[in-house]
Amino acid sequence: MIASAASWRELHNYVSTLKEQNLQWKIWDDFLEPDKYCIDFLVKTNWLVEKGFPMSLGEVTFDKKIIYREDLKTKERDITICHELAHVFYPAKSYQQNISNINWECIIEWIGRRWRAKPEVLKEIIEGFHIQPRVYDRITQRAFPKQTRRYRNQGYTQLKLPLE
Ligand SMILES: [Zn+2]
Repeated sequence: MIASAASWRELHNYVSTLKEQNLQWKIWDDFLEPDKYCIDFLVKTNWLVEKGFPMSLGEVTFDKKIIYREDLKTKERDITICHELAHVFYPAKSYQQNISNINWECIIEWIGRRWRAKPEVLKEIIEGFHIQPRVYDRITQRAFPKQTRRYRNQGYTQLKLPLE
């Protein structure tokens, strides 16, 4: 079952509870606080980020590409890219173990949103993968102080939390 779209606080509470109840999951041991190292690693291992027509908002391909839907609003674009990069950095085959798909998506979304929320990490992603920077909130203003503000108060509705 799917609940309504999750705010950051709802997602954070949900993932925190998952963690408290499942401290043995490997992802918690290996999870790194977001920093530029994660992104440098992905850029240097030749991952590419491109616009296109994925099945959902974004997808990871076998030839090391992250494809995001080209009609996404900028905040959605940035979160989608961070979400897909989190999938690459924490591959399911190493970390998902017996975690259900929907809970795994929540954890990946939580990681991706934390990457997007750090101006220096977001800047590294946008510049490292040659994506057009856009300013639409305080985070992007700090990441790209020279860009003019073009968007405000964009919503974001990708993730739905499972009902408990
Ligand atoms: Zn995903």
